[in-house]
Amino acid sequence: PGKKVLIVYAHQEPKSFNGSLLKIAVEELTKQGCSVTVSDLYAMQFEPRATRNDIVGHLHNSKEFNYNMETWEAYKRGDLSQDLVEEQKKVQEADLLIFQFPLFWFSMPAILKGWMDRVLVQGFAYDLSKSYDCGLLQNKLSLFSFTTGGTKEKYAKRGDVRYLLWPMQHGIMHFCGVKVLEPHICYAPEHVSEEKRKEMLTAWTQRLKTLWKEEPINCSPEWYFK
Ligand code: FAD
Ligand code: ZN
Repeated sequence: PGKKVLIVYAHQEPKSFNGSLLKIAVEELTKQGCSVTVSDLYAMQFEPRATRNDIVGHLHNSKEFNYNMETWEAYKRGDLSQDLVEEQKKVQEADLLIFQFPLFWFSMPAILKGWMDRVLVQGFAYDLSKSYDCGLLQNKLSLFSFTTGGTKEKYAKRGDVRYLLWPMQHGIMHFCGVKVLEPHICYAPEHVSEEKRKEMLTAWTQRLKTLWKEEPINCSPEWYFK
């Protein structure tokens, strides 16, 4: 109770399976006494492109644009665009970040990738010598909750699903100092029976009930590529 949760949600349709997973998380965590904030990226028409528009006012070097350098400088001056300031505030306040999305091309949808690209600015999320265990977003947990088109059997046959979590969990969250909980994967909701879908939704509710007792994974190459 009292914990703050930010759910970054990337699905266009509230009636989707992802929409149902979101609804369950909001209801269950609120019931536990957590304060839950949702960034519904499509509904917000969140801008996924990393452009000059992310910097308010003058540029540090207007002769040759360097996004990383300019957003870093703008962060220090307090000159990032309002949408980024708002997302950073939500991240700063959160104890737990949940990312809820359908798997797109072994990764996250572009709108969510754009959120990562634009919100996790140098100076805010990491710094020159402050990354991985020393990243700037300390004492936070993250959880990647996603759905797939492929069945569990197909994923088991074609290679471990953990490989594709390396860029997201290790390359982004761990890099920024955020600890990582076990991912939550609902395989092939479009292709299984209604009964199986209900089971998957119940399993998510059940997991959330004991979420705060979980230990983060050991986010090192062995977890992914053992
Ligand atoms: P939906 O189609 O919304 O849901 C499935 C069914 O569940 C629907 O019939 C819905 O009505 C029903 N449902 C919703 N709520 C409930 C409820 N409360 N109770 C019971 N039933 C309910 N897949 C891969 O595996 N790998 C990839 O690399 C990949 N790349 C993709 C790239 C793109 C560009 C796209 C568009 C898709 C890709 N996919 C891939 C497939 C994608 O991951 C799946 O289509 C997606 O995960 C399915 O989730 P959904 O929420 O959209 O399902
Ligand atoms: Zn790691």
